[in-house]
Amino acid sequence: MDATKPPTPLGHLTAENLHSLVTRFYLGESAKNLVKEFGIACTAAKLHSIMPPALISDRFCPACGVQMQIAAVNRTSSRYGYLPIVVRCSGCEHYEHASCGCAFCVRVRQQLAENEENRRRDLIREFLGGDGEIESAPRTVESLSLREAVAFIAMVRACGYINETTLGSIDFSGTPLSPTYGYSQELIDLLRNARLIQASLQSSTHAFTFSESEITNCYFERLSWDLLVTDAKELVRELENVALSGNWPASWHEESEALWSELAFAESIQFFALCSQQRGWRPNLGDATNAMLENLLRDHSVAQCYRIVWTGAQHTADYKARKNISNPHAANVFIGACQRWADRARVENWEVKPLRRNFELPRTVVSYVLHDVFFKIGERGFSERIRTINPAQPNIPELMVLE
Ligand SMILES: [Zn+2]
Ligand SMILES: [Zn+2]
Repeated sequence: MDATKPPTPLGHLTAENLHSLVTRFYLGESAKNLVKEFGIACTAAKLHSIMPPALISDRFCPACGVQMQIAAVNRTSSRYGYLPIVVRCSGCEHYEHASCGCAFCVRVRQQLAENEENRRRDLIREFLGGDGEIESAPRTVESLSLREAVAFIAMVRACGYINETTLGSIDFSGTPLSPTYGYSQELIDLLRNARLIQASLQSSTHAFTFSESEITNCYFERLSWDLLVTDAKELVRELENVALSGNWPASWHEESEALWSELAFAESIQFFALCSQQRGWRPNLGDATNAMLENLLRDHSVAQCYRIVWTGAQHTADYKARKNISNPHAANVFIGACQRWADRARVENWEVKPLRRNFELPRTVVSYVLHDVFFKIGERGFSERIRTINPAQPNIPELMVLE
């Protein structure tokens, strides 16, 4: 290191002593010791303010090429007890730290970000396959099943268009696509298998997690979707017209009750999970719960199913408090409590009063599309048990309401 001309308080030092002082100071030696040893007329805390910057002989600025220097920093007043010595350029604004805002560093950072974005885009292309070309084909209303038609309109409404051929992601919509993660994934898989949509290469990089060399996770709710239908907006218009006119393709009638049931099941299991979480145990989601809810929905509306599940949860919470059972035990008791209460209600002809929708579980896009656009029954799809009235006459789109 070379020292430049020192200010007066260091004037008594020989060139050799000054060199030694500067070197030891910048190597981080105690200012108090240095002041004492070299007989400098200032306090240890002020030493940094009279230290000359030291040029570093073998380090040059990457921005302008001139020699770098060590700037004196007040080490003793730092809140953290010690501040790292700052190496800065003797000719331009650049200094060696991630916070440097010089034009050179800004450009380097932009280039690094660009390289990283390109690397991620390559990995996404490899992961999703394809070359970004969208092979779309014309589709007719009749070529879609009722389930596909409902899922397609729901998807378009939930995601919105980024452009003519691409939909956004389902998690940007204010309204959830469906009541559960699993049901949303099922509907999206249905549309993918029907070649109506495909995951888009335009998807945000936030839809994935990356390792050094590959994609380690993909979040389907953050993906964007390419429409594989020629003029998707026209198909949506036609589907909505046919849905609202009631003049359905014959096969749709046969599917309608099954479609009501699967949405009802998703809404019920969502409520079942909420009731569990609110009372502190993890919902036991498996065959036993599925069978119990399917049993309830055979002859109850979703609103009544809510009542049975809510009562079952109350009984379980009470039992848990009295018997001091564990949470996993309570999760199992809950399933039986719902079933037993429903069985007694059937045997003893109790009136199962419907509950309202829970404000934490608002209506989903699929519910709006199925019950408002296709069935035209609105919230009766929630509050009543729906059946197809006459499968023998499938051209009548009427739905019979039990209870
Ligand atoms: Zn420079
Ligand atoms: Zn810089």
